[in-house]
Amino acid sequence: MTTGILGEYKNMVADFGCAVCGAPAALHHPRFAVGMGQRASDWLVIPLCGPHHQTGGYGTAIHAGQQAFEQNHGTEEKLLAQTLEKVFREMDRRTL
Ligand SMILES: [Zn+2]
Repeated sequence: MTTGILGEYKNMVADFGCAVCGAPAALHHPRFAVGMGQRASDWLVIPLCGPHHQTGGYGTAIHAGQQAFEQNHGTEEKLLAQTLEKVFREMDRRTL
């Protein structure tokens, strides 16, 4: 469990729900920003539900086949950009 501002950030992103379907989500670490076998920063995360992350099978789960997932649901870059837009809109809302 992460505490402090990173913990708050991760909770906020998870609370957005799955970037594809809006269901309760865990955090996916995109691979595009790091080398093979490395883990992306916790600041670069996309919320994905169980089926869209791990369990949904080929074409549904990103870990079952990234190309097929991205053809159906958008690229990691697009989903991360959408997530960051939600973060900044939420931050804006909280400071009003
Ligand atoms: Zn989902």
